Parts: sequence; structure tokens; C-alpha cells
Amino acid sequence: MTEQRIVGRFAPSPTGRMHLGNVFAAVMSWLSVRSRRGRWILRIEDLDPQRSRPEYARMIEDDLDWLGLDWDEGGTEDRGACGPYSQSRRGDIYADMIERVIATGYTYPCTCTRADIMATQAPHQSDGRVIYGGRCRPLSLPAFPDVKTGTKAATRLYVPDRQITFTDRLFGERSFNLAAECGDFILRRADGAWAYQLAVVVDDAMMGVTEVVRGCDLLLSAAQQIYLYGLLGFPVPDFAHLPLICNGEGRRLSKRDASLAMDQLRKKYSASEIIGIVGYLAGLLPVPEPCRPEELAAAFSWERVKVPSDGVIVLDGGI
Ligand code: GLU
Ligand code: ZN
Repeated sequence: MTEQRIVGRFAPSPTGRMHLGNVFAAVMSWLSVRSRRGRWILRIEDLDPQRSRPEYARMIEDDLDWLGLDWDEGGTEDRGACGPYSQSRRGDIYADMIERVIATGYTYPCTCTRADIMATQAPHQSDGRVIYGGRCRPLSLPAFPDVKTGTKAATRLYVPDRQITFTDRLFGERSFNLAAECGDFILRRADGAWAYQLAVVVDDAMMGVTEVVRGCDLLLSAAQQIYLYGLLGFPVPDFAHLPLICNGEGRRLSKRDASLAMDQLRKKYSASEIIGIVGYLAGLLPVPEPCRPEELAAAFSWERVKVPSDGVIVLDGGI
């Protein structure tokens, strides 16, 4: 039996300098791929035109270079056969693919404003997630009206009221009921912008990605994406969701945590020191000692990764 070639990817949004949390995801995905002689793709997730900047994409590349994390495909130079590798230039591909989803009959046009959606959301959502209340959902399925993309309505996808279960490499078996946890979700906004969920599934499928490594804030998204993979008839990749790195105050790292952004980290540490810190945070090294990425890859396996089961790594003062 020939073993399927591993294809991993790092898919940053070029909305700022990388911080230690982004580096953690990049290193872990790279290690997983390199330890099994796979292919690593750098995809630029610049769907948000207001926040994305080409210079941030180039800085991300410079930081990856500096860390010694090489990619085989993608990046701003669009190396490889599955391009373009920037989402802002993949609109034609998304337009084809959304037609396939629409053909299943499970989408409908939604004309809700943000205020409508806020007014009908479930009251218990404290983490900022908004569950769509179903204002525009047709009463019967699947006899939906046709929707042409690019019109004034958003394209919203019906979700079934049942559990979607998958096994995450680090978080184990996870199960989500999309109807309860996010509601029908948007594939394309009324202004024509493509939604992350559609773009990421189409891209990972078309680029032949076999494993997705990223932060555990996207565990629910994995369930949404598995549902979309099914509707599009694509094989589902493996998922490994990583704990989120929090600063000393227990808050998740964001672009505001300037001291843990790469420009500051590069002033304070060498590349091998940062790789060593990440190896230590992943439980691959007993102490944060300097280490080259190749050295970590040589001994890497997911079984050796030891991370906190509550999904949070709190940095102590040292870093
Ligand atoms: N672009 C997303 C981010 O930077 C990552 C999405 C993914 O890995 O699926 O958070
Ligand atoms: Zn609506």
C-alpha cells in the first residue's frame, strides 16, 4: 500500500506581525509535515480587505525564513501548481464552488442586517459568538428559492440539528451540534465578500491538504468545515488543534500583545531560542533550550506532544 503524502499548511491572515501564538501554529504544522517528508503550503488568508496588507504578508514570510521554516508552495510569490495562494485572488474558484453548495438546495438568501441578527440571537452567548436565529430560513427544505451570487442578499447555509463528531489529534473526540452552537452560517456576504468557512474548505481541498494544524479557537469551525466538505464531496483532512497561548494575565495573545510579537521576540531571542521555547511549550523539550527546527522534526510525533487539556497555555514571566 502506498502511503498518502502528507500535505500541511500554515494559513495566516496578514493583518499584523505574527505573535508567539501564530509561531506556535506554524512550527507545529511544519514539524508534523517535515517529520514525515510531506509538503508544506503557505496560504495568505487576506479575505478581509480592510485589515489585510501585503507588507504584513511579506513580514510573515521574513519571520518564517528567519525561524528556518521553509515552505514548498505558496507565499506571496505564488510558487506551486495550486495557486493563486492568496485568498483575495481566488474569487473565481469560490464562485464555482458556492454554486455546487447552492445546488444541494441547502442554502438560502438572507437579508438580515447585523441588528436583526443581534436581536434574534440566543441570549447565553457570552463569548461574542452570535447564533443566527433563522429569520430568513425557509419553512420547508430543500425547496429553497434560487439565489444568484453577487446579489444584495447574503448566501446562508442551512445546518442540520444533529451532532457532527470528529477526532482531533490533541483534543480527542469532539462533537458539535451546529444548529445549537452556531446556527445557519454565511458562505458569502451580501457585499460579495467570501466567508472564511467556504474559502478555507475550498482551499484546503483544492490544495490537497491532508492535515490542518491551528489554534483550538477553531474547533467549532472544524465541525462547520466537515459539514461543508461533505456537501462538496471532498475528503476531510485530519485536524490537530493547539492550545491557545495566553499572556501573564490569562488573556489570549492578540496583535495588541506587542512584547510577544515577532519584532520584539527577534530583538530578545535567536531563532533557535524561539524554536526551543515552542518545543518546550509543546512538551517536546524538557526545558526551553535552543534547538533547530530540523532537530525537533527528527524526533517529532503527535504522541509526544503534551499540552494542557484545558486548551490554554499560560506564559510565565520568563518569556
Ligand atoms: N487565517 C486564520 C488565522 O490566521 C487561520 C485559519 C485556519 O488555519 O484554518 O487565524
Ligand atoms: Zn436572515
